[in-house]
Amino acid sequence: MSSKARGVLATALATGLLPGCLGSAPAADRQLFEAVEPHMGTLVRIKLYADGARQAKAAFRAAFDRIAQLDNALSDYKPASELNRICRTAVARPVAAGADLFRVLEASQELAGETDGAFDVTLGPVIRLWRQARNTNRLPDSAVLREAAGRCGYRKLHLDPAKRTVMLDQAGMQLDAGGIAKGYAADAALSILAQLGIGSALVAASGDLAFGDPPPGQRGWRIGVDSFDRPEAAFTRVLELSNAAVSTSGDGEQHLDIDGTRYSHIIDPATGMGLSHSTLATGITVTIIARYGIDADGLATAVSVLGPERGIALIERQAGAAALVVTDHVVESSRWPSVVSRN
Ligand code: AMP
Ligand code: MG
Repeated sequence: MSSKARGVLATALATGLLPGCLGSAPAADRQLFEAVEPHMGTLVRIKLYADGARQAKAAFRAAFDRIAQLDNALSDYKPASELNRICRTAVARPVAAGADLFRVLEASQELAGETDGAFDVTLGPVIRLWRQARNTNRLPDSAVLREAAGRCGYRKLHLDPAKRTVMLDQAGMQLDAGGIAKGYAADAALSILAQLGIGSALVAASGDLAFGDPPPGQRGWRIGVDSFDRPEAAFTRVLELSNAAVSTSGDGEQHLDIDGTRYSHIIDPATGMGLSHSTLATGITVTIIARYGIDADGLATAVSVLGPERGIALIERQAGAAALVVTDHVVESSRWPSVVSRN
């Protein structure tokens, strides 16, 4: 641990697939292929081992199509998405949801319960005001923010697993699955690839990555994670992962700077405010490893809100999960050292 650490994990992770470790597969017949497409407001990268270009091409198409299908279900940007349709139609009456949307909402509600609402999939009205604020470079008006916060709250979202229905307590509620959907999409794309006979693959949707079987002849997919506590090293920490997922959350990518304060795109539901810190200080950057992307993604957002102490306590309660939390210092959960090797 170092007090010099700075929170720039997100970028390092997104670009941190170590290239030298990917091409040296001893298994003769399977080759590495890679493709990138824009989906879910970001670039999604897939790497996979296939028997040849024809198999790889078909696999990429199927995996990216599955991600596009999920975007159509889960997006809060697309007016015609299933999620937005449900926001319009499920007010005070149960409406049937598709399996993907229901799965994401169920996981969100479970996480909301475990975090006392720090993760909240109903924050849409407030999240939209902060999105606007980033565009106009002005803080949201406090009265407007208060009104929007009145239309949020995970206890106002009701799921019936037996009937797979969704119901909202009041009009004007807006679901936003931005904190969990990319991790789920990465899982879903991997599943499609496995169904097509491709086990060795990884899917990276910006800061949310999911890994299948290791590359042929290797122990895992190697990715670099850097908290810049050792500036002389290219990557301070190397993860070698298979059948696992890793997600990073933080304010590195989307934020609003006003009068020396930096506001994150991640909102603290208790205040309706973007997580904030002085622009001269370090924000929080969280990396989570879990078996599935849906969990790693949701947990990374939740731990960002909870902060290092409560966040690490949450991770210790999750079977098999590990966390690295970087603020002006670095905190590792108890399982973190066993999944990471240092350069
Ligand atoms: P991530 O990059 O996975 O941490 O997700 C950030 C996104 O999650 C934001 O852009 C919002 O769409 C959404 N979000 C923001 N704050 C929260 C919160 N407290 N709980 C759940 N989702 C949130
Ligand atoms: Mg997340």
